[in-house]
Amino acid sequence: MIAWQEPLVDAVYVVAVLVFILGLRAMSSPATARRGIVQAGVAMLIAVAVTFVIPGLRYPNFPLIALGVILGSLAGWYWARVVQMTAMPQMVAIFNGMGGGSAAAIGAVEMLGNLSNTSISGLALAGAVIGATSIAGSMIAFLKLQGWLRSKPIVYPVQQPTNIAVLVVGVGFGVYAVWMTQTVWLLPFFVLMILFGLLLALPIGGADMPVVISLFNALTGIAVALDGFALVSGPLGDAGYAMVIAGTLVGAAGSLLTLLMAKAMNRSVGNVLFGAFGATEETGTTIHGSMKPIEAEDVAAMLAYANTVVVAPGYGMAVAQAQQKVKELADLLEARGVTVKFAIHPVAGRMPGHMNVLLAEAGISYDKLFDRDEINPEFSNVDVVLVIGANDVVNPAAHRAGSPLQGMPILDVENAHNVIVIKRGQGKGFAGIENDLFYKDNCHMLYGDAQAAVGKLVTALKKMD
Ligand code: NDP
Repeated sequence: MIAWQEPLVDAVYVVAVLVFILGLRAMSSPATARRGIVQAGVAMLIAVAVTFVIPGLRYPNFPLIALGVILGSLAGWYWARVVQMTAMPQMVAIFNGMGGGSAAAIGAVEMLGNLSNTSISGLALAGAVIGATSIAGSMIAFLKLQGWLRSKPIVYPVQQPTNIAVLVVGVGFGVYAVWMTQTVWLLPFFVLMILFGLLLALPIGGADMPVVISLFNALTGIAVALDGFALVSGPLGDAGYAMVIAGTLVGAAGSLLTLLMAKAMNRSVGNVLFGAFGATEETGTTIHGSMKPIEAEDVAAMLAYANTVVVAPGYGMAVAQAQQKVKELADLLEARGVTVKFAIHPVAGRMPGHMNVLLAEAGISYDKLFDRDEINPEFSNVDVVLVIGANDVVNPAAHRAGSPLQGMPILDVENAHNVIVIKRGQGKGFAGIENDLFYKDNCHMLYGDAQAAVGKLVTALKKMD
């Protein structure tokens, strides 16, 4: 062992961790998020690079590590470039699953090499339980979000007792392997933990998956931290510190995000995981009134002579990639002296922050974006709200007792003088229930694909000049 390496590795890890924390902090605001991502990436690069000088690391491992880094970087770079904004959740699911898989693999290697050391193998076992569950669950999340597996909750009798039995028996095999120092029991342990991850994710509906991905992300962080502790106790001690810190940060940030997302939908994490939300449909509710169609030219006139227009974007705007047209529309209205604001619900779209990113991509400045608490008190003074491909996040059924959406915090757009809803037809939102808003007297429907419909509004407005 060469003496200078150890303090160098420790010092570099401290720097990497500081940059990583600063990056995470910058990610909390849309204005600095881009910088934060770059900072966190640089921190990760530094941490990976310094791995090569860790004392005691055997030379034959270098080419393997380098190969992994190159292949992983190329695959990640390629996917991140080609992915559509609406497919972001499934990409996050895959990437997160890889983290869980790595944690499980490190746990396996640590257990195989140190089975007789109960403290190392115990920690590695805990990391492997969480890592194997995360990779399997994340793969189901990916398949559901990609539409390759039925998106609705898959439920069957005695589902939860079966899951608990698989978990208990699987962990039992792992504990027995460590207890008896017999590696052969690790095989059924891993098989059952992967099965448990698959079964755990099956009853969760596709649209709940972002919360679950965030939860798996937090769990992966914890698994990595546990593996880090196992490494710290072993011969390559230094390699573990960065994993402990990065894993803890990811675990903490992921847990907070999970709780925030659940809160924005007024559901508990337990309900998301075990409630099979969306498996049943609402019955027995009659909504009075009718949906009233309107033509683009009439909407354009309404918008042109308004004082204030609020745009409420949703998943449909993201699918239709209508953000550029929306920016064009906002510019035209502002040129006519109309005040244009954007109302952003925390779970509009399919991931928190989805709408902010899409609108920023189109060049809409952050100071025009208002969150639910800021904009809700203003709606009664707004002339026109333009709901573009949003449904659940503007459904006043959330205020109705007995509705599946009851209690979900929504954008109270129905309080505006006029509401125009752009959507293709009478399709329901993710929750699968009727929207009371569409039947209100002050609401009109502009049917069509969001991009085409907003395009028509732009054309009609230009003709008015
Ligand atoms: P919704 O999924 O509720 O509704 C989207 C609407 O867009 C649909 O009614 C659809 O109607 C319309 N639409 C689809 N494609 C197009 C298109 N090309 N052009 C125009 N309209 C289109 O979206 P919201 O953003 O309102 O709500 C998001 C939902 O997802 C919430 O219920 C939220 O809770 C959930 N969610 C859950 C998360 C979680 O972590 N569990 C995270 C984020 C969101 P039509 O078919 O008639 O066009």
